Amino acid sequence: MTLAPLDASEVRVSITEHPSEPKPNDELVFGRSFTDHMLTVEWTADKGWAIPEIKPYQNLSLDPSAFVFHYAFELFEGMKAYRTADNKITMFRPDMNMKRMNKSAQRICLPTFDPEELITLIGKLIQQDKHLIPQGKGYSLYIRPTLIGTTAALGVSTPDKALLYVICSPVGPYYKTGFKAVKLEATDYATRAWPGGCGDKKLGANYAPCVLPQLQAASRGYQQNLWLFGPKNNITEVGTMNAFFVFRDSETGKNELVTAPLDGTILEGVTRDSILNLAKERLDPKKWTISERYCTIGEVAEKSKIGELVEAFGSGTAAIVSPIKEIGWKGEQIDIPLLPGEQTGPLTKEVAHWINQIQYGEVEHGDWSRVI
Ligand code: PMP
Repeated sequence: MTLAPLDASEVRVSITEHPSEPKPNDELVFGRSFTDHMLTVEWTADKGWAIPEIKPYQNLSLDPSAFVFHYAFELFEGMKAYRTADNKITMFRPDMNMKRMNKSAQRICLPTFDPEELITLIGKLIQQDKHLIPQGKGYSLYIRPTLIGTTAALGVSTPDKALLYVICSPVGPYYKTGFKAVKLEATDYATRAWPGGCGDKKLGANYAPCVLPQLQAASRGYQQNLWLFGPKNNITEVGTMNAFFVFRDSETGKNELVTAPLDGTILEGVTRDSILNLAKERLDPKKWTISERYCTIGEVAEKSKIGELVEAFGSGTAAIVSPIKEIGWKGEQIDIPLLPGEQTGPLTKEVAHWINQIQYGEVEHGDWSRVI
């Protein structure tokens, strides 16, 4: 028997009897309130994907033995839709999120799907609640596609039942009053990801273990961990963002924009990829080198001492960029220079602007902005 593929054209829609009013922009708290509808699609190993449903936002009902609760058969995505100045609704590079979602699914034996079908379904879900997508620069709809193994049984094995669902949360700008540079603790005693592991997949199981080291860093006055790995203390990521550094060679004056390579331990960030592409397109190659290579915490400390460390930032969907002002490492303080009164360096600000312009439809960039 052939298995049914995910098919957006079959979607069934049932509308809430209690539609909500949009919240004022200043009351939007990230991930705390959700739109009126959700998308659900069940999957079974013998039939494939069932008919997709858009229905009122509601609790899930799962057997307490469901695989997701015991063996962490769970993966998710984080992406956004934007309301442009001329009132179009767009998604930013959703194909990248779908590709990553399928890679995550494959890694933990959950079913994969045709990416375009899920993009179409998410588009329909968003249309349903489009009055709840906030207007204004920095405001957007955060979209959370999730896939869980729902087989009701104990014993680790391949799930024969799964549930794909999508919920959406209207959100405001990460930095309400402008950028705020963060202090990081370089962390070597806890490891986020390792070769042969799953750090490049967006599995829920990668996230819970990172909260305790963050609390420990916070108790010492740092907002986030700068995750190190290996005997050389390679810099991998920052908190739940990809990490970028800008170095300037004091002899040649040439700049280098550096981020870790995609070697299986780094989450393949959509923002990271967008920044690398735009930097290659827009920065003068006579003045800039764009590198996907590891830099070590030792190299960053050394470059800071000789005045060659110019900027550092994290990148991710929630904030686009998060400027870094200080890194604590074994009692040493590594300062990232910021001009007086500034919370961000010039390149950090520029890349945020580049991406913002594309997301809000002010500048076109190939098919990055998908109108729905
Ligand atoms: N690294 C990790 C560990 C993440 O969870 C995320 C997503 N928040 C990122 C990097 C950034 O990825 P993206 O640019 O796709 O949001």
